[in-house]
Amino acid sequence: MARFDSSSGSESPDSPSAVVTGAKRSRKRGNGKNRSRDRNSNDANAAPGANGACTIGERRSSVSKPARDFRDMPEPSPKKKKRRTGAAPAPIKEAPTPDAAAEASTRSPSPVIDFDGLSRPVVGTRERLEEDDAQKEVRLARMKGAVRTLLECIGEDPDREGLLATPERYAKAMLYFTKGYQENVRDIVNGAIFQEGHNEMVIVKDIEVFSMCEHHLVPFNGKMHIGYIPANAVIGISKLPRIAEMFARRLQIQERLTKEVANAIMEVLKPQGVAVVMESSHLCMVMRGVQKTSSSTITSCVLGCFERKEKTRNEFLSLIGVNR
Ligand SMILES: [Zn+2]
Repeated sequence: MARFDSSSGSESPDSPSAVVTGAKRSRKRGNGKNRSRDRNSNDANAAPGANGACTIGERRSSVSKPARDFRDMPEPSPKKKKRRTGAAPAPIKEAPTPDAAAEASTRSPSPVIDFDGLSRPVVGTRERLEEDDAQKEVRLARMKGAVRTLLECIGEDPDREGLLATPERYAKAMLYFTKGYQENVRDIVNGAIFQEGHNEMVIVKDIEVFSMCEHHLVPFNGKMHIGYIPANAVIGISKLPRIAEMFARRLQIQERLTKEVANAIMEVLKPQGVAVVMESSHLCMVMRGVQKTSSSTITSCVLGCFERKEKTRNEFLSLIGVNR
């Protein structure tokens, strides 16, 4: 997934010169000077990482071996690249027609944000968004009935004093936990994209995130770290936590939440790259099942230059303190 997106984004901003940022300029220049030699030595460097030591003789044969991590492989030649994208089963990689490109500001070709700025709307999302007050009442009444049934089924008395208002409270809480379905990326960003000519890494870390596990309907919460390298344009810094919040306030799995935040930022801002790391604790794991109270789950999604450049990725990871 991450891979497809970056390769689709790579057509325009990915020419090597566009990737050069102030911080990376010196490294890049160093690479450029002996680029042809580098290509071999990069390959050679990638392989020994796997088996530790190697002699000159072995190095020669290792050139054909794949790098341990495909993201660390040297810049693919055009021929190689074509093969790679050809092999990828990427339904979302369809090149937009000129028409679609012209429409891009209103209708996104990506499934991340639909033409209203809703993200991944499902059956019922639009219904909930557009309902009037009467319909809201009906929705709430249905939810209250369902919670009452739940209370009966767990062996409780829904009519005892303590539980009388619980169905309504829970229904409203559930609507709050999932309020992200009613939010819209375009409203959140609201034009807060500024052409600053800034091309250095921007990181917002330790964003508190509360979400709901879609498998158990219990919360998971933790911290999200978002970094990006602008292609001149920067986004209002408070927008990043709000985008995270929008996707978190839905039924989620952590893997998808991480990916959706990265893809949405990639799409609205079109930076050189985006990296999102999330560490969280899942109540469905802590309170039931394996009951590992101290375990945390870390997921990451890196796009664009973070995906291609190991150094950029490592810089991000060490700045957020995960690369220990
Ligand atoms: Zn769960």
